[in-house]
Amino acid sequence: MPDPSAALRFDVVTLFPELFDLPLRVSVIGRAIERGVISVEAHDLRQHGIGRHRAVDDYPYGGGAGMVMRPEPLFAAVEPLRAAGAMVILMDPAGERLTDRLARELAAAGHLAIVCGRYEGIDERTRALADREVSIGDYVLTGGELPALVLIDAVARLVPGVIEPASHESDSFADGLLEGPQYTRPETFREMAVPDVLLSGHHGEVARWRRREALRRTLRRRPDLLEGAPLSPEDRVELDRLARTDEAADGADER
Ligand code: SAM
Repeated sequence: MPDPSAALRFDVVTLFPELFDLPLRVSVIGRAIERGVISVEAHDLRQHGIGRHRAVDDYPYGGGAGMVMRPEPLFAAVEPLRAAGAMVILMDPAGERLTDRLARELAAAGHLAIVCGRYEGIDERTRALADREVSIGDYVLTGGELPALVLIDAVARLVPGVIEPASHESDSFADGLLEGPQYTRPETFREMAVPDVLLSGHHGEVARWRRREALRRTLRRRPDLLEGAPLSPEDRVELDRLARTDEAADGADER
């Protein structure tokens, strides 16, 4: 049953509710559900299937391969969730790309109803149900369940109380950059040493090093992100320097 006190409630409409069982029982998300910070309920679309066989799909008009999901079962499953105040999200390869920014927006939505397609996809008229259509990338999966789980995981970890805010605030994309390198023990592993600055205990220098390495990695691997990132004048000077040095040109951030 959905927990009405949860900060974010997910309802998922799917032909395979069992796919949501194990992934939501473990680790960070499992604990957040257990503590009632978020709630996830998977609704079996088959219950709204048509006729004795509870059909949810049919042949495509105009011919062609595969089956298409009929609109009536989807409307029957989703309309009550919409009436209860949910923002309806359709998982679809043609949707807007799931990004950190979108995940943060959805984390504040309160109640999300996620619709998982199967077969060749949904009847076009079903799109009228959706407030948003979301894609997890430019490839096609066999169904919307794994994309829905990706969305739930990405969004749920941003809900206050699920993980330490300091943890996701320093993650890649949160400030528009990739996160720089991280190290733990041992200090030296197979002749690869942890950078001295991280052992110095000097917080200011560690922070400056981390910022520089985040800029370096972003410049090397995802320069497209720099256009939208909030950069200080010091960041811009550092980026100019990195772009001019061999370091930035020969993949030094990987060593
Ligand atoms: N024929 C559809 C097309 O070409 O766009 C693909 C249908 S796919 C086999 C079945 C369902 O999987 C979709 O309706 C959608 O719910 C889900 N799906 C597949 N790839 C996805 C992606 N990259 N992002 C989000 N959902 C996806």
